Amino acid sequence: ALPVIYAITPTYTRPVQKAELTRLAHVFRQVPRLHWIVVEDSTTRTELVARFLVRCGVQYTHLHVLTPRRFKRTGMPRATEQRNVALAWLRQHRGRRDAGVVFFADDDNTYSLELFEEMRSTRGVSVWPVGFVGGRAYERPLVSGGKVVGWYTGWRPDRPFATDMAGFAVNLQVILVNPRAQFKRRGSQPGMQESDFLKQITKVTELEPKAKNCTRVLVWHTRTEKPHLANEPKHRKDTMVIEV
Ligand code: UDP
Ligand code: MN
Repeated sequence: ALPVIYAITPTYTRPVQKAELTRLAHVFRQVPRLHWIVVEDSTTRTELVARFLVRCGVQYTHLHVLTPRRFKRTGMPRATEQRNVALAWLRQHRGRRDAGVVFFADDDNTYSLELFEEMRSTRGVSVWPVGFVGGRAYERPLVSGGKVVGWYTGWRPDRPFATDMAGFAVNLQVILVNPRAQFKRRGSQPGMQESDFLKQITKVTELEPKAKNCTRVLVWHTRTEKPHLANEPKHRKDTMVIEV
């Protein structure tokens, strides 16, 4: 059987949340053997997300953890706690006999189906280009002789792993044999989450380049514009409560 792809998606309540999750579900339900781990940034599993997931057509696990308020400031890394809760779930519910690949799929990015075909064969840690990050049209690992030898990026090229969260996948067994590997708050500078995590589990020389030696962009760090809600009624509201 194909290894299961575990797509870890942190998500939080806001006007576009259901639209974002809908877009993701439409890709994920076309991917064979994908298990979606949705981790809400909230004190509970919300009704909106729970109802959505039941009907989404993807195999899923629904978790939640609230980001402490002191970590909700601009310039601070997002979704650290949510990703770690997903890793803890995998360590608790999966074992040595389970074949899988773990991928961090933020809810506002754009994913091509080919990306999942590429990551499926990840033996350790694999990498590929990501569109619209690092202040450039794309960021990518530079490959020579089948090995990663550097990074093409417009931002902090001194990062040990100059990749976005969407630019790598990890074999499930690597997550399980490194039980302490996780995303860090303490001592983590903005934009260093990926490097701080990856250096706990791999080396640059061991990375597996995907997407034609990292020459094809199969995922884009898109960001959704906030909808304009200035005309939302304050008093004469709709006669029904409509979920958006
Ligand atoms: N996120 C979250 N709580 C927050 C902010 C973001 O769980 O307070 C999630 C968000 O839904 C997304 C991921 O964390 O899946 C990354 O956030 P965002 O897309 O805003 O970050 P950026 O695009 O700036 O990297
Ligand atoms: Mn984003």
